[in-house]
Amino acid sequence: MAVSRDVAIGIDLGGTKILTALIDEKGSILTEVELETLAPEGPEAIYDQVVSSIYRLIDERNLDESRILGIGIATAGVIDTLNKEVIFANNLGWENIPVGSLLEKEFSLPVHIVNDANAAAIAESIWGAGKGSENLVYITVSTGIGAGIISDGRLITGEGGSAGEFGHISIDANGEACGCGNIGCLENLASGSAIAKTAQHRLKMGAKSDFFTSPAKVSAEKLGKAAQGGDSFSLDILKEAAVSIGVGVTSLVHLLNTEVIVFGGGVMNLSEILLPEIKKTVAQRGLPSMTKNINIVKSTLGVNAGVLGAVGYYFEPSGKALAAFEK
Ligand SMILES: [Zn+2]
Repeated sequence: MAVSRDVAIGIDLGGTKILTALIDEKGSILTEVELETLAPEGPEAIYDQVVSSIYRLIDERNLDESRILGIGIATAGVIDTLNKEVIFANNLGWENIPVGSLLEKEFSLPVHIVNDANAAAIAESIWGAGKGSENLVYITVSTGIGAGIISDGRLITGEGGSAGEFGHISIDANGEACGCGNIGCLENLASGSAIAKTAQHRLKMGAKSDFFTSPAKVSAEKLGKAAQGGDSFSLDILKEAAVSIGVGVTSLVHLLNTEVIVFGGGVMNLSEILLPEIKKTVAQRGLPSMTKNINIVKSTLGVNAGVLGAVGYYFEPSGKALAAFEK
């Protein structure tokens, strides 16, 4: 009797850990393997880890390989989704690695590769906070700020695979210079690193906090705890960051007429403080016809959004959202 293909293998390939998971059509993780990334040992060692984690997953589950639809990888960096290559991934030390064709040869299965923010957008549109939406943007706010864009049902990757650099849109034309070459980038105003830097600067300049005595001790995480505990110094900094994000989101909505904005990333653990300010800013500044029905929400898939989105291609009902994967 022929076995139907009903599961896929997803890999969230990061600079600190590699999460490999067996996933079904409901977006459930059936089993998973997590490895610490051997980044210091070089690009080849990481590739070997990817291969061995797939074998481990198949062996541990004693999986009939004829059930596997394919393999999907989500990773940070510039990805050529069409040609299944990593063009540049700083945290892996990978440059022009044809990881798709290498893995297809190894496992005789289809392989797809996608940028991690794009993967999260795909996952949220299939199984998560924006289920069924054809106009969704996923925004991650952590050390940096990035986005995955689905517009009219199509994942937008751009000419060179770099679309979605939301952190590097300018919010302040006369602001600070950014490493990217632009001035006043959102990332320098509202990322986790920026929030911590702002707090340190203000403390050095003599601002008073109920929570912090020394600038050296400030991190975005601690700032969040302090804000939750009622420290107005910390709360003000987070609210200002949220306004900057809201200004950026307003421009995004004006460009794309987005239906759902899904927020993920570590800084969004403070969503109860940030989301109301973001929503308020968008409502105040946006064109009412485009913003009155917009849905601005927190990710429901959390840390699994990347690994789930990696295999979204195999499960997206119409295949339409993932047109970028095909010629
Ligand atoms: Zn920038």
